[in-house]
Amino acid sequence: MKSPSPTYRGRLAPSPTGRLHVGHAHTFWIAAQRAAEHEGQLILRNEDLDPQRCRVEFAAAMLEDLRWLGIAWCEGPDCGGPFGPYSQSERRAHYLAAWKSLLERGLIYPCTCSRKDVAQAASAPNDSDDEPIYPGKCRSRSDAGNFQEPVGVNWRFRVPDGEAISFSDQHLGPQRYVAGHDFGDFVVWRRDDVPAYQFAVVADDYAMKISEVVRGADLLKSTARQLLLYRALGFHSPHFYHCALVGDEAGVRLAKRHDALSICRLRQNGYTPEQVRARTLQIG
Ligand SMILES: [Zn+2]
Repeated sequence: MKSPSPTYRGRLAPSPTGRLHVGHAHTFWIAAQRAAEHEGQLILRNEDLDPQRCRVEFAAAMLEDLRWLGIAWCEGPDCGGPFGPYSQSERRAHYLAAWKSLLERGLIYPCTCSRKDVAQAASAPNDSDDEPIYPGKCRSRSDAGNFQEPVGVNWRFRVPDGEAISFSDQHLGPQRYVAGHDFGDFVVWRRDDVPAYQFAVVADDYAMKISEVVRGADLLKSTARQLLLYRALGFHSPHFYHCALVGDEAGVRLAKRHDALSICRLRQNGYTPEQVRARTLQIG
């Protein structure tokens, strides 16, 4: 048992792109337990940045699913709090301020390469969930200062090639990635004017004073990128706790299309919250 920490602030950060499934239940239940163990606070942030993929009805459903599971939060889009708004679609001013900060420090540059250009020029990505390493075509552009707003191009963060990024995960132990080798210059703001996931969460976790981030192990490498962003922005970084991913019976990673394992469907089929939580906890 960890000693109580009055400053522990954890977060649940679901994205309303579909119904939550047992994999989400697993991660969010652990996040809730970590906050409870530390006698800390748990906040809920609605990660609804991508207008192409997010739906209002899924946002309402995910809150309902989380409540049904027995997870409670003290700040969120439904109940407010001192660090709102708690929906990412309403936090553009925070992201723009962070974008300007990186721009002024010369750490990002505009990139007009297409996805196809990057895929063709880059070596194959190391793992399936990852973006190819950016080959650097736009790195030497000198027109970043001409932009008042991020609109119209991709903005990439210039990573320090060859630098090892190490951190100690609270669950998985020591981690190490090499910038420029394990990942390249990554997008912080998309040409369709949507801040990139790993940029938005850094701005939000800092602004919301999150002390520990609990999420799935598929984001381990993204954490290395985020640590570079914390440093670049002059932000103190939180601790990280990455949970094992939940697979289906065949060991295939769950996605929101696994309707049979959605919390909603399990509830309709008569499972109790305790059973759904126990099912997720057996997996690891
Ligand atoms: Zn480019």
